[in-house]
This record gives sequence, structure tokens and C-alpha cells, in this order.
Amino acid sequence: MSMLVTERIYQFSSVSGAGLWGGNVFLLAGNELTLVDTGYRGGTKRILKEVGRLGYYPSDIANIIITHHHADHVGNLAALKLATQAKVITHPADAPYIDGRLPPPGPAGLRWLSKAVPLRRLWTTTPAAVDMPVNDGDQLPILDGIKVVHTPGHTPGSICLWLKHQRLIITGDLLANRFRLSLPSKPFTADMAQEIRSIAKLASLDFDIVCFGHGSPLVDKAHPTIVNFAERLEGKHQRVH
Ligand SMILES: [Zn+2]
Ligand SMILES: [Zn+2]
Repeated sequence: MSMLVTERIYQFSSVSGAGLWGGNVFLLAGNELTLVDTGYRGGTKRILKEVGRLGYYPSDIANIIITHHHADHVGNLAALKLATQAKVITHPADAPYIDGRLPPPGPAGLRWLSKAVPLRRLWTTTPAAVDMPVNDGDQLPILDGIKVVHTPGHTPGSICLWLKHQRLIITGDLLANRFRLSLPSKPFTADMAQEIRSIAKLASLDFDIVCFGHGSPLVDKAHPTIVNFAERLEGKHQRVH
């Protein structure tokens, strides 16, 4: 259920990073543990079991970073926070949807889908207080330093995490890599033009490995692949306008 992406960084997921598990969950194993995202609700025991299998206790988890407010990333947040007492870290623009001040917007143009009972169950999450809002450029003292990169578009407060020392980026849903590199789904993306600008911002950074909210990590030629994808998007975008 978990794979080692690079030294001290684990990805917990199903094969495609989709389905009932929800988005990928990452474990950063430094002096203390940090989780990145939490999957769909109902997976708390599974996550803690996996943490245990790797030789850690729930109380070793000091931080939970949330890349954005969607239910497939915050589903187990409240339960994990309760079990671990970890500090919840996210961007202030998504915080109101996580702490319950605002109801999470459902998929645009697909109202029937947000009313479908099984989906509504998954989409409903228990609010959790955000302890530490982080903004673009902030540095977190985790695994030799994580830089927060604000990449709005999919949601207003979407962030990427740039682990400079590991030359690795965790993108959340800025991009997915289920079967190939792709944009996040349109109905779930708040502002596609802004999203495309954020992908260009990602391409301007320096890295060797990219980990996604959905799908497998890109470990081979990751930077040129992302640059190429961003350039093709830019070209398409210019043709349209
Ligand atoms: Zn997702
Ligand atoms: Zn999402």
C-alpha cells in the first residue's frame, strides 16, 4: 500500500491514486512525521496502520499539510488530527472550506452529481481547524526545508510543496499522472485560465521528481516533461483566444 518515492518520502495509494482511497497521501519521515493530504473519508485506520507498518506511532505525526480543500484530500483530516494532535497547515484561501466556515463548492455544472447519494457521502467531510496558514514563498522546517508555492486555479488556495533538498515537488491536483500527465477535471476546477498560469509557474521551478495527488510519481525526465506539457498548454490557450 505504500511505496518509497525517494529517501524518507513515502506515497500511500491505490495503483492509480483514484477510487475509494481518494488522492494520494504522502508521508515525510524527518525527525518528526508530516502527512501531506489524507484521502477520502473512511481511510483513517488504513493510514495509521501503514504508518505503524513503517515503524512509527500516530503521535509521531506532528504536521498534516493539505494541498487543497477537496474531499478526496481532506476526508480523513478531522479524524487524523484527533488521533495524532498534529498541526494542520494549508493556504488561507482554502481554509474556510476545511474548517467549516464555508460549504465546499460542488462540481460546477454537475449539480445532479453532487446530489448523487454515494458521492455526497464522500464529498461531505468533518471540518477541522487550520492551525497554520501558509502563503507563497513560506519555508517550513520539514525535511531540510519545504518551500510553499501558491498555485491557484484548481482551487483558490491550491499549493505545491517544493522539497528543494530532495529536488522533489508535490503538486496536489495542479496536475495528475494517472495514465499520462493531465489537467485536473474541469468540473472540479475553479478557474482553468489561472490553473494554466500556475502550471507555467511550476515549470519554471527546478526539480527532478514530481509527485501528484493522483497517479504515479514522475521520476524520469520530470522537468523537461512538465516544461513540455506547460508549453503545449500555453500554445493551445493562445490559439483559442
Ligand atoms: Zn484530488
Ligand atoms: Zn482536487
